[in-house]
Amino acid sequence: MIPFLDLQAQYRSIQHEVDPVVRRVLESGQYVLGPEVVDFEEEFGAFCGTRHCVAVNSGTSALQMALMCVGVQPGDEVITVPMTFVATTAAIRYLGATPRFVDIDPVTLTLDVDQLHEALTEQTKAVVPVHLYGLMADMQPILDFARTHGLAVVEDAAQAHGAEYRGRRAGAMAELGCFSFYPGKNLGACGEGGAVVTNSETFAEQLRALRDWGQQGRHRYRFKGFNYRMDALQAAILRVKLGRLNDWTAARRRVASRFSDRLRDLGLVLPYEPRDRRGVFHVYGIRLERRDALRAALSERGVDAGVHYPVPIHLTEAHADLGYGPGDFPISEGVAATELSLPIYPELTVQQIDEICSAVIDALHAIE
Ligand SMILES: *Cc1c(COP(=O)(O)O)cnc(C)c1O
Repeated sequence: MIPFLDLQAQYRSIQHEVDPVVRRVLESGQYVLGPEVVDFEEEFGAFCGTRHCVAVNSGTSALQMALMCVGVQPGDEVITVPMTFVATTAAIRYLGATPRFVDIDPVTLTLDVDQLHEALTEQTKAVVPVHLYGLMADMQPILDFARTHGLAVVEDAAQAHGAEYRGRRAGAMAELGCFSFYPGKNLGACGEGGAVVTNSETFAEQLRALRDWGQQGRHRYRFKGFNYRMDALQAAILRVKLGRLNDWTAARRRVASRFSDRLRDLGLVLPYEPRDRRGVFHVYGIRLERRDALRAALSERGVDAGVHYPVPIHLTEAHADLGYGPGDFPISEGVAATELSLPIYPELTVQQIDEICSAVIDALHAIE
């Protein structure tokens, strides 16, 4: 059986480095924030190419606080996509703001910049592009549009650690960039975690206060804040993994390119990487009409595939009150109905990659 994700294999590959740092933190008695978190922030900010990094307890908290920094309030609208993980929308709604969806581009599966104008209203405050599957959205036109109309841009880079657009890294292009370190992400903690990166000293200060009850100085509550701090254990483990991340990304890209070689000319839609971008393949998604049949046939052949995501956010029960319906975002709905995520992680062996490809080819014949 080839699992969709194999976090135990990842742990085995770094156990000799992780175990001692876990012990070091346990012995330190400093379990929340502290020097491990400060060091991780410095290292992850440098990795992204931003002056500041503020580590928090989840990617969702990162998005919520980043939107607070740019002044998103009840009644405001935030333009984003429905083809994303539910957290993007949830964070906007935590603030009492309204997500205003635009569809995705059918080729890159990221925000379709040609639809921004139609979504603009007097209430629009910000744009949240999502770097879906680890491929960055078309940032330059988004930033240009935002500048023209006085909007803020917050990157949802939760799937895109180290992804690049014209040589610049995810999170570093907009005012604020938000990351998740959920275990299954390309850089994952052994628990929950997240971060906001920014070049703004003001935002960084505000974020440091917000994540820690709004404090600026002990018992000086300057903002209505949260308990969104990062654990020292997570920071220490993330530091070890960050040291491997460039190698892991290169390995993911090798897996993706082998998939793309082997799965050509089978009538599948394969991931596309524009020349100005470098994806990090958080997900390797193929698309076909008979997705569910292929998924079942792969499972019979010992390959566990996933779907990201079966229901676009505008069609979820939780967000039905936004008033959208079927047919409103046909590209997103089409991807939701046809996408199948193959197992992809750095630890996959060449033999496993070939097994996955053979299983796909065999399964395609079987379901014909
Ligand atoms: C994972 C994810 C999030 C949320 O991150 P958490 O750490 O799980 O809160 C937000 N946006 C996207 C696109 C994600 O994939």
